[in-house]
Amino acid sequence: MEDIMAMVLVFIIVVFIILMPIVDYLFRFRCPACGSRRGRKSASGRWDGVNDQGQRRGGAFSYMECRHCLAHWKKYRGTWDPVDDDEWKQRT
Ligand SMILES: [Zn+2]
Repeated sequence: MEDIMAMVLVFIIVVFIILMPIVDYLFRFRCPACGSRRGRKSASGRWDGVNDQGQRRGGAFSYMECRHCLAHWKKYRGTWDPVDDDEWKQRT
């Protein structure tokens, strides 16, 4: 009985070791500039603000940095926008 328990435990650990890089890969974003999948989530949260046209734009956002070309991106409502250095320093 203890042998089976030990085997199940080892099996679970092995499955985790195999799955972790896959999950990690899936949760990384594809950089719109260079196309590499080496993005890293830096910050996320709620944002309330007014855009250049004076419209209120609130919602969830995420900031990402590409580890390949070092570009900074902001995801807002499903689209990626480049982020300038000032905003990047402010938000992350
Ligand atoms: Zn990139």
